[in-house]
Amino acid sequence: MSTIETAAVDRTALLPASLRDDFPILSEQVGDRQPLVFFDNAASTQRPRQVIDAISGVYERTYANVHRGIHTLSELSTEQYERARTKVQQFIGAARFHEIVFTQGTTASINTVARSWGDARLRPGDEVLLSVMEHHSNLVPWQQAAARTGAVLQHVPLTGDGRLDMDAFDRLLTERTKLVAVVAVSNTLGTINPIVEIIAKAHAAGALVLVDAAQSAPHLPIDVQALDVDFLAFSGHKMLGPSGVGVLYGKETLLEAMPPFLGGGSMINEVRLDRFTPAALPAKFEAGTPPIVPAIGLGAAIDYLEDIGLGAIHRHELQLTRHAYAALSQIEGLRLLGPAPEHRTGLVSFAFERIHAHEFAQVLNDQFGVAVRAGHHCTQPLHALLGIAASTRASFYLYNTIEEVDRLVEGVLAVTRMFAPKGRQRKRRKPDE
Ligand code: PLP
Repeated sequence: MSTIETAAVDRTALLPASLRDDFPILSEQVGDRQPLVFFDNAASTQRPRQVIDAISGVYERTYANVHRGIHTLSELSTEQYERARTKVQQFIGAARFHEIVFTQGTTASINTVARSWGDARLRPGDEVLLSVMEHHSNLVPWQQAAARTGAVLQHVPLTGDGRLDMDAFDRLLTERTKLVAVVAVSNTLGTINPIVEIIAKAHAAGALVLVDAAQSAPHLPIDVQALDVDFLAFSGHKMLGPSGVGVLYGKETLLEAMPPFLGGGSMINEVRLDRFTPAALPAKFEAGTPPIVPAIGLGAAIDYLEDIGLGAIHRHELQLTRHAYAALSQIEGLRLLGPAPEHRTGLVSFAFERIHAHEFAQVLNDQFGVAVRAGHHCTQPLHALLGIAASTRASFYLYNTIEEVDRLVEGVLAVTRMFAPKGRQRKRRKPDE
């Protein structure tokens, strides 16, 4: 990295590298037998031994379906599953246990609100205010809801540096706005959005607010009561937990008033051949066998995160991000997406005019052992606005190190030297997620 000046790192803000020992997968080798540098955390994180043990412990000793059998294992599973709910409740500062609904993930949580609240409440001409930086999970369900109800979608544009244009937000928020649905942290730009301000303004205008916290719950503390947010959605697999579980938080009064979305077992109080009465919260929104073991694993992940502290995790990630940002911004021709490090969490996305994102990802993996994401990261409209089809994203978490960031920079520099001088392009693959 002879041509790159590296910025001073505040080593006191870094987490101890010894915590990497908790993550067995980090000692794997990938590509041409390179030590794994895992920078695809915004897509899904790795799991510490504590979470793996919690999951295998359930399967080895206590597993049964929940809420159903009056037998020892069912009682044990039920107790563990409901304890995980309490952990989530405390993690996000919810007032009530039954305001926590376990879903399959952020996507399922948002779809639940769009189907249940959206179909019941939205009328032709009502508006849902989104932003142009939303993940497809917070765009498509509202496009579908708009098609069903006649509601109209509006989108907050960006400032030049990839933050929400709050002047435009003020203009777009009107008495027609029934819901503001925004991402707390962009999975492509890393931008931390001003959720406190958005919620206060939306409420003053009479609108509810749904926050997509998929990229903030793993990295920043959340207090739903202090925020006064109406709905909040996030996924277990992006915060050291298993895949297959997510959370929908909703205020009790809202969830009480909403019709159930999925029908089936567990979500009923009583069923006749021609009708049913729904169960009380949260079962009303948990039809069928719930994600029992993933939810228990999420509880273990929350214990792990709380032991370290989200404040400490954010400080650590900020050092990595600053370091990556300072180094990558010196590479000629490389376009860093999104705002300066102080306005973002631990991720850096970039594009390079003459080199496709897949070239970066391929070489970084094969020759440097660095796993990054290449594609549109489920933000196709945002990429279209930025005038690119794809970008390369390196996303950090608590187990990543400054030395790994150096490896990334070294790899990126090597790719630019490999491909750019001759303008040579390998056959491109279709950009995907
Ligand atoms: N919202 C954001 C901001 C995301 O980054 C993601 C996943 O990448 C999602 C929603 C969807 O999460 P899931 O696939 O776990 O439902």
